[in-house]
Amino acid sequence: MDNVDERIVVPSLRDEDVDEVSLRPRYLDEFIGQDRVRETLSVCIEAARNRGEPLDHVLLYGPPGLGKTTLAHIIAREMGQNIRVTSGPAIERPGDLAAILTNLSPGDVLFIDEVHRLSRSVEEILYPGMEDFALDIVIGKGPGARSLRLNLPRFTLVGATTRAGLLTSPLRDRFGVISRLEFYSTQDLEAVVRRGAAIIQVEIDPEGAREIAKRSRGTPRVANRLLKRVRDYVQVRAGGVITAEKAVEALDFLGIDSLGLDATDRHLLAVLVERFGGGPVGLDSLAAATSEESVTLEDVCEPYLLQIGLLARTPRGRVATPLAYRHLGYPVPAGTGQETLW
Ligand code: ADP
Repeated sequence: MDNVDERIVVPSLRDEDVDEVSLRPRYLDEFIGQDRVRETLSVCIEAARNRGEPLDHVLLYGPPGLGKTTLAHIIAREMGQNIRVTSGPAIERPGDLAAILTNLSPGDVLFIDEVHRLSRSVEEILYPGMEDFALDIVIGKGPGARSLRLNLPRFTLVGATTRAGLLTSPLRDRFGVISRLEFYSTQDLEAVVRRGAAIIQVEIDPEGAREIAKRSRGTPRVANRLLKRVRDYVQVRAGGVITAEKAVEALDFLGIDSLGLDATDRHLLAVLVERFGGGPVGLDSLAAATSEESVTLEDVCEPYLLQIGLLARTPRGRVATPLAYRHLGYPVPAGTGQETLW
C-alpha cells in the first residue's frame, strides 16, 4: 500500500511544496473563494484600521491546505504589521512563549499554527496575554515566591487548527473572530489553478484548469501540486500546453481518478465493499484491513470521501454509499433501501 508520504493528494504540507510561498495570495482581494471568511475579515480589518487599534484575535479552522497560513499573512499585510510565525508543538515550555510574547512589537501578528497542540501550562501563559496583554511571572520558589505582572504590547494572535473541537474552551473563548474554512468549489479551484499557471508560467486552457480543479479534493494546496505535476508531464510529453485532454492524460498517469481519488482511497473503498459488505465497520478494523494508520484514514481519506458522499459515518461505523459502489464499478446492492437515497 502507498505510504502517506508518497501520495500526491495528501493535503498537508510536503517537501515538494517548498515553493508554495510564491503561489500564496498576498492580499485579501487575491484570495479566492471562502466568501464568508473574507467578508468577516475584511470588515474587522477595516474597523480596526479606522480605530487605529490592533485586530481582535482570530481563530481559523478547517482541513489542511485550505489557506489558514495564507490568511494569517494576509491579515498582517492588510494591517501593515509584521508577522511572527510559530506552532503549538514548537512552544514546549511556558518560558518559550513568554520569550516570544515579550519580544513582540506593538501591533504585531503572532501566528500559532496547530494551536490545539499547546500544552496546558503554555496555554495558561497565553490567557492573560490575550485578554489583558499581560504576562504573569512567578519569581522564586516556595513561600517566598512572588508574582509579577509585566505589560505586553498589544498584539493580534492568529491561531490555526484543523479541528476547533480539539481546542480547550477557555482558549477558544478568547478569540474575538472565529472563522471556519470550507472545502473549495470546483469553480473556485479553477481560479486557483489559472492563477497558479500564470505564476509558474505555463499555458493552460480553461477546460484544462477545470479538469485539474475537479480532481483537487476541494483543496488549493492539492490543486497547485497537481498543476505542477501536470505541467511537468505536458512539458516532457505533450508540447507544453495544458489542454483538457492532456490534463486528463497526465492525471490518469499519476493515478488520480475523475473524483480526485488516488490508489489508497480506492483501495479503502474496495476493502469496505468487498471485505465488509459495504459496512458499517469501525475505523480501526478498516485501518487494519488496509494496512493504513487510523489517523491517515481519519485525517486524509475520510474528510474528502465524506464530503463528496462516497462514505457515510453512522453510529455503528463507516458505510460505503451507493455512489461509492457506482464509482468503483460494483453493482449497488438491492434491498438496502439505499439505492434510492443517492
Ligand atoms: P493551511 O495553512 O490551511 O494548511 P495554506 O495557507 O498553507 O493552508 O495554503 C496552501 C497553499 O494553497 C498556499 O500556499 C496557496 O498557494 C494556496 N491557497 C490557499 N488558499 C488559497 C486561495 N484562497 N486562493 C489561492 N491560493 C490559495
